[in-house]
Amino acid sequence: MQAEIITIGDELLLGQTVDTNSAWMGDELRQKGVAVNRVVSISDRPSEIKSALDEALSRVDFVLVTGGLGPTRDDVTKHTLADYFDTELVLNQPVLDRITAWFEGRGLKMLPSNRDQALLPEACLVLPNPRGTAMGMWFDTQRGGREKVVVSMPGVPYEMKGLMVEEVLPRMQSKWSLPIRYQRTVLTQGIGESFLSSIVHEWEERLESRGIGIAYLPAPGQVRLRLSATGEHARSLVDDAMNEFLNQAGEHVVADEGMTLEEALVAALGRAGANLSTAESCTGGSIAARLTAIPGSSAVFEGSIVAYANAVKINSLGVDAQLIKSHGAVSEEVVRAMAEGARTRLGTTYALATSGIAGPGGGTASKPVGTIWIALASSNGTSSRCLQLGNHRGRNVARTALECMGWLLRELRSA
Ligand code: ATP
Ligand code: MG
Repeated sequence: MQAEIITIGDELLLGQTVDTNSAWMGDELRQKGVAVNRVVSISDRPSEIKSALDEALSRVDFVLVTGGLGPTRDDVTKHTLADYFDTELVLNQPVLDRITAWFEGRGLKMLPSNRDQALLPEACLVLPNPRGTAMGMWFDTQRGGREKVVVSMPGVPYEMKGLMVEEVLPRMQSKWSLPIRYQRTVLTQGIGESFLSSIVHEWEERLESRGIGIAYLPAPGQVRLRLSATGEHARSLVDDAMNEFLNQAGEHVVADEGMTLEEALVAALGRAGANLSTAESCTGGSIAARLTAIPGSSAVFEGSIVAYANAVKINSLGVDAQLIKSHGAVSEEVVRAMAEGARTRLGTTYALATSGIAGPGGGTASKPVGTIWIALASSNGTSSRCLQLGNHRGRNVARTALECMGWLLRELRSA
């Protein structure tokens, strides 16, 4: 089965909004075994919408549309679809009741244009959208004797996602009796895609003949690996192959399924009954920001001292001024003292510290840009490591933060 996606909105064409909807939908569809043939973005003009629908329906059976369903005058999708499918807009009382309740619940005044959101094409199946006032619409149609479907959803990404997961994908799976598909992902950290692939080279070579698909999804400092299979035995095929992977490369895995490294670390600290503080120079609080973005992190994360200037390293972390003088702020000695200072002053089980030359300037012959020291202090003593990264400041900060968190996570696992 093949699908096409049409995203509607002048803002997409003008570069004011980046079309993230189609990327998300493409991934969801692929996971369900549906291939996306084409993605097009078009303006909010009825003629454009109609010709895009004509073209898409001439090629594929399933067309997903987002955008232009709002109450404002520039939102023309609903009227255009009613016109296109030669049907009337009729008042849908349950939808009107829901919209009225939605506004009352928020203490907002309802305008006539909001009421008009309950006018929906007679010929469609209305897909309820509990997250907003624009409903989804499912149109069954025919082309050349084939059954085809057009689905229209609001442009707001979280409303679209809710409709996809709760309404559209289940209906799609049952309408086209799509085969069972199973997949598992794991997140690795601190190892590049090609290195990872070389470790498991022989295993990877045999996957295809076993009917298992593999994908590496890299991000700076991290690679997500996904295994998938289709059919009756999909689950056991994937589970077996994943166990083989974990046996060979498990040390690089930091989290599984949708989990992020930060979430895995917060959970692992919680399980260990431990807590953490950070002393951050070159990462400038980035580790703290990543951790505090996770709900529930307050149970395991105490705080951070962003010790960028030497004076802060000395006064707030208790680093000996003499150490900085003799070794420089970017040094093993100083980063260890920073970690120990944070651990003592903030009274935590663990403390992580960073000090490095993030770039793009500031390097020397002995300490080139990308030289970053990190330290981990615990009741077992203090360990330190030197990272040699590149000269992109943002990437260096991100990779250092990930490296620190991955390090502590592995430490907690082996404890
Ligand atoms: P609304 O009821 O909010 O008006 P709508 O269906 O009319 O919904 P749009 O007006 O097209 O949707 O867009 C609503 C919001 O969703 C805007 O902030 C827009 O930038 C965003 N949006 C629209 N299309 C996309 C897309 N393809 N990818 C990401 N964001 C999008
Ligand atoms: Mg709108």
